[in-house]
Amino acid sequence: ATPTAVMVATGVGANNGVLIKGGDALERAQKIQYVIFDKTGTLTQGKATVTTTKVFVEMDRGEFLRLVASAEASSEHPLAKAIVEYARHFHFFDEPSATKDVEDNSKDSISGWLFDVSEFSALPGRGVHCFINGNQVLVGNRKLITESGIAISTKVEDFLVDLEESANTGILVAYGDSLIGVLGVADPIKREAAVVVEGLAKMGVRTVMVTGDNWRTARAVAKEFWLIPNSYPDVRSEERKDVYTGQVGIQDVRAEVLPAGKADVVRSFQKDGSIVAMVGDGINDSPALAAADVGMAIGAGTDIAIEAADYVLMRNNLEDVITAIDISRKTFSRIR
Ligand code: ADP
Ligand code: MG
Repeated sequence: ATPTAVMVATGVGANNGVLIKGGDALERAQKIQYVIFDKTGTLTQGKATVTTTKVFVEMDRGEFLRLVASAEASSEHPLAKAIVEYARHFHFFDEPSATKDVEDNSKDSISGWLFDVSEFSALPGRGVHCFINGNQVLVGNRKLITESGIAISTKVEDFLVDLEESANTGILVAYGDSLIGVLGVADPIKREAAVVVEGLAKMGVRTVMVTGDNWRTARAVAKEFWLIPNSYPDVRSEERKDVYTGQVGIQDVRAEVLPAGKADVVRSFQKDGSIVAMVGDGINDSPALAAADVGMAIGAGTDIAIEAADYVLMRNNLEDVITAIDISRKTFSRIR
């Protein structure tokens, strides 16, 4: 393409919130054969919500949530934020008082209610670990629990499987040496996800999903397009009803990928010379964005992801993956 054509394409992109970092990236995008999507925050809205709490011991739900929120309060993970937010709402509705402001989203608004925590540590791809009242507290996935030598009963395992098959991430909670409860957390898929996956298929582009989450949840998310209410109509009901509305339709899923492994997934698709795009939003995704032939950072993203990417999709809308490929194809077909 002529320099003018590249300039025009860059301008068309910018008008659509698609920032293209240079002519090489613009040229490669027309040849994309695979688009690999990160799950959390890319295919999903990145707005996780607690849908279920289940306590397996003699402890009331308020105390259980207080314990879990105390452990998660120092974590920056989206799952941790969802849990702290839920506990904050629960605490507000449980003990309403004129001095509490339900719209105050800071964890500080419940800091007085939370337990003192010592020896906090975050374990990437697993969860968090700390001590409360002299007892060890673990909040995270199966790996975290079993690696600490704590058994997961068949009753708990059955409960987890049910959660995961309905696209929830099951989070296990251990106190001392025993497993005391489970939380279900769900992150709704972006509304346009299914249409975009179908659109890419029609353009001859294959789609893949990659995630650190467990296999069962990952498969359910890749398959099912679903919405959950954003409000908290009744935070104290045992379970909230979810609405299923069709299929996302991604067949190829790579789950339980540790933070360092996403770039390896990209390379595995490039082995036969295929041109691979990676779409992601998080710090975890930047090595994969850099490894891809075309890296696309989506949404607010993190600075590191934006730095590693060839494209920035500012509107946080997956349709712009198609826009990006379209612009490239149109620009380069003109001169053929
Ligand atoms: P993703 O690729 O979806 O961003 P991560 O690698 O961040 O996934 O995390 C993988 C899994 O580790 C999560 O699905 C969750 O089960 C567990 N996990 C990580 N951090 C936390 C946390 N702070 N609290 C609970 N679970 C966590
Ligand atoms: Mg992400």
